[in-house]
Amino acid sequence: MEQRNTVIHLEHVRKEFSVDNRFFSKGKRTVKAVNDLTLDIKKGEILGLVGESGSGKTTLARVILSLTKITGGSVLVDGVDIGKASKEEKKEFRRKVAVMFQDPASNLNPRETVESSIMRPLVLHGMPKKEARKKALETLRSVKMDERYLYSYPHQLSGGQLQRIAIARALAIDPQIMILDEPTSALDVSVQAQILNLLLDLQEQRNLTYLVITHDLNVIRYISDRVVVMYLGKMVEVGPTDVICTNPSHPYTKALMAASPILDPTLRGREKSIMKGDPGSLIHLPEGCHFHPRCPCAMALCAKEEPGCTALAEDHQVWCHLCK
Ligand code: SF4
Repeated sequence: MEQRNTVIHLEHVRKEFSVDNRFFSKGKRTVKAVNDLTLDIKKGEILGLVGESGSGKTTLARVILSLTKITGGSVLVDGVDIGKASKEEKKEFRRKVAVMFQDPASNLNPRETVESSIMRPLVLHGMPKKEARKKALETLRSVKMDERYLYSYPHQLSGGQLQRIAIARALAIDPQIMILDEPTSALDVSVQAQILNLLLDLQEQRNLTYLVITHDLNVIRYISDRVVVMYLGKMVEVGPTDVICTNPSHPYTKALMAASPILDPTLRGREKSIMKGDPGSLIHLPEGCHFHPRCPCAMALCAKEEPGCTALAEDHQVWCHLCK
Protein backbone atom coordinates (compact mmCIF):
# COMPACT_ATOMS: atom_id res chain seq x y z
CA MET A 1 0.00 0.00 0.00
CA GLU A 2 1.28 3.47 -0.93
CA GLN A 3 2.59 5.40 2.10
CA ARG A 4 1.52 9.04 1.95
CA ASN A 5 3.14 11.89 3.86
CA THR A 6 1.13 13.72 6.49
CA VAL A 7 0.31 17.31 5.43
CA ILE A 8 -1.88 18.27 8.37
CA HIS A 9 -1.34 16.91 11.86
CA LEU A 10 -3.76 17.81 14.64
CA GLU A 11 -2.55 16.90 18.12
CA HIS A 12 -5.02 16.96 21.04
CA VAL A 13 -6.68 20.06 19.58
CA ARG A 14 -9.18 21.87 21.80
CA LYS A 15 -11.24 24.91 20.88
CA GLU A 16 -13.42 26.46 23.55
CA PHE A 17 -15.54 29.62 23.45
CA SER A 18 -16.85 31.63 26.38
CA VAL A 19 -20.49 32.68 26.12
CA ASP A 20 -22.59 34.94 28.32
CA ASN A 21 -25.25 33.13 30.28
CA ARG A 22 -27.67 36.05 30.71
CA PHE A 23 -30.90 34.29 31.58
CA PHE A 24 -30.24 31.79 34.33
CA SER A 25 -27.16 32.88 36.23
CA LYS A 26 -24.36 35.36 36.07
CA GLY A 27 -21.00 34.63 34.56
CA LYS A 28 -19.73 32.88 31.51
CA ARG A 29 -20.18 29.36 30.26
CA THR A 30 -17.74 27.42 28.14
CA VAL A 31 -18.65 25.89 24.78
CA LYS A 32 -16.35 22.99 23.95
CA ALA A 33 -16.58 23.14 20.17
CA VAL A 34 -13.61 20.83 19.49
CA ASN A 35 -12.56 18.54 22.28
CA ASP A 36 -9.19 16.76 22.34
CA LEU A 37 -9.00 15.83 18.66
CA THR A 38 -5.98 14.07 17.16
CA LEU A 39 -5.94 13.41 13.41
CA ASP A 40 -3.56 13.16 10.45
CA ILE A 41 -4.53 14.23 6.92
CA LYS A 42 -2.34 12.66 4.24
CA LYS A 43 -1.02 14.27 1.08
CA GLY A 44 -3.31 13.66 -1.88
CA GLU A 45 -6.20 12.23 0.10
CA ILE A 46 -9.81 13.36 0.14
CA LEU A 47 -11.02 13.37 3.69
CA GLY A 48 -14.72 13.80 4.40
CA LEU A 49 -15.85 15.37 7.66
CA VAL A 50 -19.46 14.65 8.64
CA GLY A 51 -21.75 15.29 11.59
CA GLU A 52 -24.87 17.23 12.49
CA SER A 53 -24.87 20.98 13.26
CA GLY A 54 -22.89 21.59 16.43
CA SER A 55 -20.62 18.60 15.86
CA GLY A 56 -17.62 20.95 15.57
CA LYS A 57 -16.77 20.30 11.92
CA THR A 58 -16.87 23.95 10.81
CA THR A 59 -14.90 25.05 13.90
CA LEU A 60 -12.32 22.41 13.05
CA ALA A 61 -12.01 23.83 9.52
CA ARG A 62 -11.54 27.33 10.97
CA VAL A 63 -8.85 25.95 13.29
CA ILE A 64 -6.97 24.41 10.34
CA LEU A 65 -7.30 27.66 8.40
CA SER A 66 -5.90 29.52 11.41
CA LEU A 67 -9.01 31.74 11.44
CA THR A 68 -9.47 31.06 15.14
CA LYS A 69 -6.93 30.48 17.90
CA ILE A 70 -6.93 27.07 19.54
CA THR A 71 -7.38 26.68 23.29
CA GLY A 72 -5.03 23.71 23.52
CA GLY A 73 -3.02 21.25 21.47
CA SER A 74 -1.26 21.98 18.19
CA VAL A 75 -1.89 22.14 14.43
CA LEU A 76 1.01 21.33 12.12
CA VAL A 77 0.87 22.03 8.38
CA ASP A 78 3.76 20.40 6.49
CA GLY A 79 5.56 20.02 9.82
CA VAL A 80 5.19 23.70 10.81
CA ASP A 81 3.27 24.46 14.00
CA ILE A 82 0.95 27.26 12.85
CA GLY A 83 0.61 28.58 16.42
CA LYS A 84 4.36 29.25 16.53
CA ALA A 85 4.96 30.07 12.87
CA SER A 86 7.06 33.07 11.81
CA LYS A 87 5.62 35.81 9.56
CA GLU A 88 7.21 34.17 6.52
CA GLU A 89 5.87 30.72 7.46
CA LYS A 90 2.37 32.18 7.92
CA LYS A 91 2.55 33.75 4.46
CA GLU A 92 3.62 30.42 3.00
CA PHE A 93 0.79 28.69 4.90
CA ARG A 94 -1.77 31.08 3.32
CA ARG A 95 -0.49 30.09 -0.10
CA LYS A 96 -0.63 26.38 0.68
CA VAL A 97 -4.15 26.19 2.10
CA ALA A 98 -7.19 27.49 0.19
CA VAL A 99 -10.83 27.47 1.20
CA MET A 100 -14.09 27.45 -0.69
CA PHE A 101 -17.21 28.34 1.26
CA GLN A 102 -20.62 26.86 0.55
CA ASP A 103 -22.33 29.85 -1.03
CA PRO A 104 -20.44 30.55 -4.29
CA ALA A 105 -21.78 34.11 -4.46
CA SER A 106 -20.30 34.90 -1.02
CA ASN A 107 -16.85 33.91 -2.32
CA LEU A 108 -17.02 36.70 -4.92
CA ASN A 109 -17.36 40.46 -4.83
CA PRO A 110 -20.53 41.44 -6.80
CA ARG A 111 -18.76 44.57 -8.12
CA GLU A 112 -15.75 42.74 -9.47
CA THR A 113 -15.40 40.97 -12.80
CA VAL A 114 -14.41 37.33 -12.80
CA GLU A 115 -10.92 38.35 -13.90
CA SER A 116 -10.46 40.75 -10.96
CA SER A 117 -11.82 38.18 -8.51
CA ILE A 118 -9.36 35.52 -9.64
CA MET A 119 -6.47 38.00 -9.85
CA ARG A 120 -6.98 39.51 -6.39
CA PRO A 121 -5.34 36.74 -4.28
CA LEU A 122 -2.46 36.55 -6.77
CA VAL A 123 -1.76 40.28 -6.57
CA LEU A 124 -2.03 40.09 -2.76
CA HIS A 125 0.66 37.41 -2.86
CA GLY A 126 2.90 39.81 -4.80
CA MET A 127 2.42 38.66 -8.39
CA PRO A 128 2.74 41.44 -11.03
CA LYS A 129 -0.62 42.33 -12.63
CA LYS A 130 0.36 41.20 -16.14
CA GLU A 131 1.36 37.77 -14.88
CA ALA A 132 -1.73 37.58 -12.64
CA ARG A 133 -3.97 38.31 -15.66
CA LYS A 134 -2.36 35.46 -17.60
CA LYS A 135 -2.73 33.15 -14.62
CA ALA A 136 -6.41 34.13 -14.21
CA LEU A 137 -7.15 32.99 -17.76
CA GLU A 138 -5.15 29.78 -17.33
CA THR A 139 -7.02 28.97 -14.11
CA LEU A 140 -10.40 29.79 -15.65
CA ARG A 141 -9.67 27.29 -18.43
CA SER A 142 -8.71 24.65 -15.85
CA VAL A 143 -12.28 24.81 -14.48
CA LYS A 144 -13.57 24.36 -18.04
CA MET A 145 -14.75 27.93 -18.69
CA ASP A 146 -13.55 30.04 -21.58
CA GLU A 147 -12.12 33.54 -21.99
CA ARG A 148 -15.45 35.31 -22.52
CA TYR A 149 -16.37 34.79 -18.85
CA LEU A 150 -13.36 36.83 -17.66
CA TYR A 151 -15.33 40.06 -18.01
CA SER A 152 -18.62 38.79 -16.51
CA TYR A 153 -19.98 39.90 -13.15
CA PRO A 154 -21.30 37.38 -10.59
CA HIS A 155 -24.98 38.33 -11.20
CA GLN A 156 -24.58 37.30 -14.87
CA LEU A 157 -23.58 33.74 -13.98
CA SER A 158 -25.51 30.59 -12.99
CA GLY A 159 -24.93 28.78 -9.67
CA GLY A 160 -22.73 26.16 -11.35
CA GLN A 161 -20.66 28.82 -13.16
CA LEU A 162 -20.23 30.77 -9.91
CA GLN A 163 -18.99 27.64 -8.18
CA ARG A 164 -16.48 27.04 -11.00
CA ILE A 165 -15.22 30.63 -10.57
CA ALA A 166 -14.96 30.11 -6.80
CA ILE A 167 -12.89 26.97 -7.45
CA ALA A 168 -10.70 28.88 -9.94
CA ARG A 169 -10.15 31.65 -7.41
CA ALA A 170 -9.09 29.14 -4.75
CA LEU A 171 -6.84 27.31 -7.23
CA ALA A 172 -5.12 30.40 -8.63
CA ILE A 173 -2.55 30.53 -5.82
CA ASP A 174 -1.60 26.88 -6.54
CA PRO A 175 -2.55 25.58 -3.09
CA GLN A 176 -1.65 22.08 -1.89
CA ILE A 177 -4.65 21.74 0.41
CA MET A 178 -8.25 22.82 -0.21
CA ILE A 179 -10.95 23.02 2.41
CA LEU A 180 -14.32 22.61 0.76
CA ASP A 181 -17.21 23.65 2.98
CA GLU A 182 -20.44 22.13 1.62
CA PRO A 183 -19.13 22.36 -1.98
CA THR A 184 -22.44 21.50 -3.65
CA SER A 185 -25.19 22.33 -1.14
CA ALA A 186 -26.17 25.59 -2.88
CA LEU A 187 -26.45 23.94 -6.32
CA ASP A 188 -29.21 22.20 -8.27
CA VAL A 189 -28.95 18.42 -8.19
CA SER A 190 -28.27 18.40 -11.95
CA VAL A 191 -25.14 20.55 -11.48
CA GLN A 192 -23.83 18.88 -8.30
CA ALA A 193 -22.32 15.86 -10.09
CA GLN A 194 -20.56 18.14 -12.64
CA ILE A 195 -18.90 20.12 -9.84
CA LEU A 196 -17.90 16.97 -7.93
CA ASN A 197 -16.40 15.48 -11.11
CA LEU A 198 -14.50 18.70 -11.76
CA LEU A 199 -13.14 18.66 -8.19
CA LEU A 200 -12.06 15.03 -8.62
CA ASP A 201 -10.30 15.80 -11.93
CA LEU A 202 -8.46 18.78 -10.43
CA GLN A 203 -7.46 16.76 -7.37
CA GLU A 204 -5.95 14.07 -9.57
CA GLN A 205 -4.20 16.49 -11.95
CA ARG A 206 -2.67 18.58 -9.15
CA ASN A 207 -2.34 15.92 -6.41
CA LEU A 208 -4.36 18.17 -4.11
CA THR A 209 -5.43 17.27 -0.60
CA TYR A 210 -9.10 17.98 0.12
CA LEU A 211 -10.92 18.30 3.40
CA VAL A 212 -14.61 18.12 2.48
CA ILE A 213 -17.07 19.30 5.12
CA THR A 214 -20.64 18.34 4.45
CA HIS A 215 -23.87 17.04 5.92
CA ASP A 216 -24.62 15.36 2.56
CA LEU A 217 -23.47 11.77 2.84
CA ASN A 218 -23.94 11.22 -0.88
CA VAL A 219 -21.18 13.78 -1.50
CA ILE A 220 -18.95 11.89 0.93
CA ARG A 221 -19.74 8.55 -0.73
CA TYR A 222 -18.93 10.00 -4.14
CA ILE A 223 -15.79 11.94 -3.45
CA SER A 224 -13.98 10.87 -0.25
CA ASP A 225 -11.26 8.30 0.38
CA ARG A 226 -11.74 8.42 4.14
CA VAL A 227 -14.39 9.73 6.51
CA VAL A 228 -14.26 11.31 9.97
CA VAL A 229 -17.55 11.30 11.88
CA MET A 230 -17.88 13.94 14.62
CA TYR A 231 -20.39 14.28 17.43
CA LEU A 232 -20.41 17.15 19.95
CA GLY A 233 -16.83 18.20 19.26
CA LYS A 234 -15.30 14.72 19.26
CA MET A 235 -14.47 12.10 16.67
CA VAL A 236 -16.61 8.99 17.09
CA GLU A 237 -15.48 6.98 14.06
CA VAL A 238 -12.79 7.27 11.37
CA GLY A 239 -12.28 4.89 8.47
CA PRO A 240 -12.25 4.27 4.72
CA THR A 241 -15.36 5.58 2.99
CA ASP A 242 -16.62 2.18 1.82
CA VAL A 243 -16.39 0.75 5.36
CA ILE A 244 -18.01 3.77 7.02
CA CYS A 245 -20.82 3.94 4.44
CA THR A 246 -21.61 0.24 4.10
CA ASN A 247 -20.61 -1.25 7.45
CA PRO A 248 -20.30 1.47 10.11
CA SER A 249 -19.60 0.41 13.70
CA HIS A 250 -20.56 3.38 15.87
CA PRO A 251 -24.31 3.69 16.63
CA TYR A 252 -24.19 7.40 15.69
CA THR A 253 -22.61 6.66 12.29
CA LYS A 254 -25.21 3.94 11.72
CA ALA A 255 -28.01 6.39 12.54
CA LEU A 256 -26.55 9.09 10.25
CA MET A 257 -26.25 6.63 7.37
CA ALA A 258 -29.77 5.31 7.95
CA ALA A 259 -31.20 8.85 7.99
CA SER A 260 -29.54 9.81 4.71
CA PRO A 261 -31.43 9.42 1.41
CA ILE A 262 -29.39 6.94 -0.63
CA LEU A 263 -28.86 7.58 -4.34
CA ASP A 264 -26.87 4.36 -4.85
CA PRO A 265 -29.44 1.52 -5.32
CA THR A 266 -26.92 -1.15 -4.21
CA LEU A 267 -26.88 0.37 -0.72
CA ARG A 268 -30.65 0.61 -0.24
CA GLY A 269 -32.66 -1.57 2.14
CA ARG A 270 -30.27 -1.49 5.08
CA GLU A 271 -31.52 -1.90 8.61
CA LYS A 272 -32.74 1.42 10.01
CA SER A 273 -31.20 2.72 13.19
CA ILE A 274 -33.37 5.18 15.09
CA MET A 275 -31.73 8.16 16.74
CA LYS A 276 -33.67 9.84 19.53
CA GLY A 277 -33.89 13.59 20.16
CA ASP A 278 -31.67 16.49 19.16
CA PRO A 279 -27.91 16.77 19.45
CA GLY A 280 -27.04 17.75 23.01
CA SER A 281 -25.55 21.02 24.15
CA LEU A 282 -21.87 21.82 23.79
CA ILE A 283 -22.17 23.73 27.10
CA HIS A 284 -23.71 20.88 29.12
CA LEU A 285 -21.95 17.88 27.64
CA PRO A 286 -23.40 14.61 28.92
CA GLU A 287 -21.25 12.56 31.28
CA GLY A 288 -19.69 9.38 29.91
CA CYS A 289 -20.29 8.86 26.20
CA HIS A 290 -21.69 12.17 24.86
CA PHE A 291 -24.04 10.23 22.60
CA HIS A 292 -25.61 8.09 25.34
CA PRO A 293 -28.88 10.13 25.78
CA ARG A 294 -29.71 9.40 22.10
CA CYS A 295 -28.10 6.03 21.61
CA PRO A 296 -30.40 3.06 20.97
CA CYS A 297 -27.69 0.71 22.32
CA ALA A 298 -26.74 2.63 25.50
CA MET A 299 -25.80 0.57 28.56
CA ALA A 300 -25.34 1.64 32.21
CA LEU A 301 -21.59 2.00 31.65
CA CYS A 302 -22.15 4.52 28.83
CA ALA A 303 -23.52 7.19 31.19
CA LYS A 304 -20.51 6.86 33.51
CA GLU A 305 -17.43 6.27 31.42
CA GLU A 306 -16.27 7.98 28.25
CA PRO A 307 -15.28 5.34 25.68
CA GLY A 308 -11.66 5.23 24.53
CA CYS A 309 -10.46 4.55 21.01
CA THR A 310 -10.72 1.01 19.64
CA ALA A 311 -8.82 0.16 16.46
CA LEU A 312 -10.98 -2.25 14.46
CA ALA A 313 -8.35 -2.23 11.69
CA GLU A 314 -5.20 -0.24 11.00
CA ASP A 315 -7.26 2.44 9.25
CA HIS A 316 -10.55 2.12 11.16
CA GLN A 317 -11.05 3.53 14.67
CA VAL A 318 -14.17 3.86 16.75
CA TRP A 319 -15.01 5.35 20.15
CA CYS A 320 -17.76 3.14 21.62
CA HIS A 321 -17.94 0.68 24.57
CA LEU A 322 -19.71 -1.85 22.33
CA CYS A 323 -16.63 -2.13 20.07
CA LYS A 324 -14.04 -3.00 22.76
FE1 SF4 B 1 -23.95 4.07 22.49
FE2 SF4 B 1 -22.59 3.40 24.66
FE3 SF4 B 1 -21.43 3.21 22.30
FE4 SF4 B 1 -21.94 5.59 23.35
S1 SF4 B 1 -20.54 4.05 24.15
S2 SF4 B 1 -22.31 4.97 21.27
S3 SF4 B 1 -23.88 5.21 24.36
S4 SF4 B 1 -23.20 2.03 23.03
